[in-house]
Amino acid sequence: MRGAVLYSARDVRFEEREAPKIIEPTDAVLRLSASCICGSDLWPYRGIQPTTAPTPMGHEYCGIVEEVGRAVRAVKPGQFVIGSFFASDNTCPHCKAGYQTSCQHRQLVGGAQAPMLRVPLADGTLVATRDVPSDDLVPSMLAASDVLGTGWFAADAANVKPGATVAVVGDGAVGLLAVLSAKQMGAERIITMSRHEPRQSLAHEFGATDIVTERGDDGIARIKEITQGIGADAVLECVGTPESMKQAIGVARPGGYLSYVGVPHGVKLEGQDLFFRHVHLHGGPAPVRRYLPKLIELITGRTIDPGKVFDLTLPLEKVAEGYRAMDERRAIKTLLRV
Ligand SMILES: [Zn+2]
Repeated sequence: MRGAVLYSARDVRFEEREAPKIIEPTDAVLRLSASCICGSDLWPYRGIQPTTAPTPMGHEYCGIVEEVGRAVRAVKPGQFVIGSFFASDNTCPHCKAGYQTSCQHRQLVGGAQAPMLRVPLADGTLVATRDVPSDDLVPSMLAASDVLGTGWFAADAANVKPGATVAVVGDGAVGLLAVLSAKQMGAERIITMSRHEPRQSLAHEFGATDIVTERGDDGIARIKEITQGIGADAVLECVGTPESMKQAIGVARPGGYLSYVGVPHGVKLEGQDLFFRHVHLHGGPAPVRRYLPKLIELITGRTIDPGKVFDLTLPLEKVAEGYRAMDERRAIKTLLRV
């Protein structure tokens, strides 16, 4: 089979790779229904995170089970399944507490920008839908695998409750789906920080009530103004830079909640800033597995349409163009047809 492999900064190749097969008895091999490129793939693509060896890319996936190892009980060939970027047993103490991305036996799933994928710990990792979904639902199911699950965690970790005032920092796919998630959880006011017109309109469609285009101190001042000087009850940081984190801390109300789901790069926190603001911090790699059953239900019932974040669709062999489009911000998120 052929799949995407990153060699070094801005060098993604679509090339022959060994087809995945069952290695451990707890594995499953999937035939993917679609694949996509993640905002976090841009860190190594841009060279901010160095690539030391050719790396098969992609960690978001959904598709049909092709084969399972002899110890797999919960899924069977022919089922449509979704999993997350960390495989987890879903039985250890961390999984039971709802933090499957900190599973004692977690394993990174990689190489999903390809037609086939091996998923370890299949019983704990994969969630099957009742029926094979119609084609038009596949983009939303794929979004549930990572960006929607991450946006949902951002809202949940920031304690979004009915009536809450929410601020979302970041207008990438995760930030936009954090808006959708906050809306589902009953937020009354959702302020999103974005300077990019197509992203602003999608944010509105997903439930944003206010758009703030200012950044830095001006952005903080603007949100303070919108909230009558109080600040937001919940701040969802979906970028991971020192600037975005500073912005997020600056707009939380005293006693407010700040979630951070953008992989931090160079972020340093100032103890006194946090201390005098009474801010609750809760972040990390989203335990998407915890939310998958709920998200599948919302998608199947067509209550939410997170697949709208894919604004560019390319055949898998054009994966390098998909990276370029996202790098240059010509696309929010690229769907790859396999
Ligand atoms: Zn576990």
